Amino acid sequence: MCVFALASCGRGNSQGSAQAASPQKLSQQQKQTQENPQKSALAAVEESLEKAEIPSSDLTAIKQRIEASPDRFFDLLAKVEAVAKQDPYLLKRVDKKKSLPQDYEPGDLVLLDKTGLSVSRPGHRLRKPAYEALVSMSEAARKEGVSLLVSSAYRSYAYQVEVFARNVKEMGQKEAERVSAHPGASQHQLGTAIDFGSITDAFAQTKASAWLVKNAANYGFSLSYPKGMEPITGYVWESWHYRYIGTDATALQTEYFLGVQCYLIQFLDARLS
Ligand SMILES: [Zn+2]
Repeated sequence: MCVFALASCGRGNSQGSAQAASPQKLSQQQKQTQENPQKSALAAVEESLEKAEIPSSDLTAIKQRIEASPDRFFDLLAKVEAVAKQDPYLLKRVDKKKSLPQDYEPGDLVLLDKTGLSVSRPGHRLRKPAYEALVSMSEAARKEGVSLLVSSAYRSYAYQVEVFARNVKEMGQKEAERVSAHPGASQHQLGTAIDFGSITDAFAQTKASAWLVKNAANYGFSLSYPKGMEPITGYVWESWHYRYIGTDATALQTEYFLGVQCYLIQFLDARLS
């Protein structure tokens, strides 16, 4: 039986009452007391999953994974929620439906110039936790002969205004919305998103892309707009755009949320808001 059914309906006690005074019965009662918190936790998780705007077939798959190993799920979730509490913008939902305030600017931006990182031009900035993870990731890639070129990082609200207006002018409103974000709706304003390499589909054919697909999650980076997910994410496939969410969150995403960042983020948003 599905653990979510158990969570919703509760488990009936079918054991005989003749054992009421036996040690076996007592230990069973103790066990049920311990199980109850997990049952109510599962019911709360189910409620948030239902609100997270996840397509039903994927929702079923996610529930099955949680059902198959709930202890690991709650362990990771507790770690991720502790991070989200301490640093709310690290896992914040930012997309076409939920925008950042116009005046949001991270307080811990680090300039990437002269840090030894590979950059397309001077002036790129990232939030400290993303920067530190990128340094570790770039060193690991370099040891395997791969260079990770940062072509875009933090973008202010004002800069997004410029980019979006330019795209609308060049390609029209509809196409501009497929390929770029309205001001306030860009993960780049968080200071934790990076565009690597050429920022074109050709990037997917490079050694750097192959390396990132295989290893980025180990450093807390996650591909935001995967191939074939435009109906869900609202954006065309961007093989070059990664967001830093931390290694506990990438583990949760990989093991339970089918590797899809927006499913995890939307779930956390439903749960924490
Ligand atoms: Zn990007």
